[in-house]
Amino acid sequence: MATRTITLARDSIALAIGGSDPSGGAGIQADLKAFQQNGVYGMTVLTMVTVQNTVGVHRIELLDVGLIEQQLDCVLNDIPPLAIKTGALGNADAIAAIAGKLEGYGGDLIIDPVLVSKHGDLLADDTAVSAYRDYLLPQATLATPNALELQRLIGRDVDGLDEMVQAAAELRELGPSAVLVKAGIIDGSRVHVLADEEKVATIETQNHPTNQTHGAGCSLAATITARMTLTTDGNGKVPQVESAIQFAIMAVNHAISIAPGFGKGVGPIESRILHDGLPDDPA
Ligand code: PLP
Repeated sequence: MATRTITLARDSIALAIGGSDPSGGAGIQADLKAFQQNGVYGMTVLTMVTVQNTVGVHRIELLDVGLIEQQLDCVLNDIPPLAIKTGALGNADAIAAIAGKLEGYGGDLIIDPVLVSKHGDLLADDTAVSAYRDYLLPQATLATPNALELQRLIGRDVDGLDEMVQAAAELRELGPSAVLVKAGIIDGSRVHVLADEEKVATIETQNHPTNQTHGAGCSLAATITARMTLTTDGNGKVPQVESAIQFAIMAVNHAISIAPGFGKGVGPIESRILHDGLPDDPA
């Protein structure tokens, strides 16, 4: 496959707000790698420290909300990002505080409403769901829930693709300009549902039969965030949400297909080539 060169745009700056995964597969480590791989200057505001590896999450320490707010003030007042992504936020207090600080923020806000890890460990408590609905989703350019998060956010079970399509549109009514549901494997394909102001559409990609998907959700949302800060794709075009999404789905799917097999459990995707090795750049 051809190697694509990255054009550095001076103001391509993105901020990730989320938790630390010391094994480097998910959380802000994954976000920073996706930013860097796409030629975007990355910054981070830490919400929690997790003790985890590919086998599981062993401990979670939420940071003091005042400390989260102070980090946000500090970076936002100094190096304004063109786009902000949120990941694991922990609880309603943190979500409300972050939403307060982001009120009036003029850039793109990508909300990955992380509730549980791939191992089933809670990364946000029960208070988080209504806080997402009340404070953060109304400000979002894009929300990227998985099927479970979608169901928690709309407050009912969703069964099958038709209901998922309906639920994605319903979540959009809470405020995000667009919703991308990571629907999972349906009829042998990896399926995403995109609801935006014009349509609700499904995006299907090849499913690679592997459990090496640690950090895939974080990397997808972070790659979308990165692509949305690029003022040009090198051909003079400004990537919009949908082309950023198409690009990111392809990049992450490829990174899953060549996962390096690190660790003894659910290993990370191949985050070292998240800009590269793609058949085509649709941006
Ligand atoms: N953020 C943190 C800090 C995590 O530990 C995890 C999963 O363990 C996630 C986000 C979500 O990861 P994934 O992209 O695998 O859904």
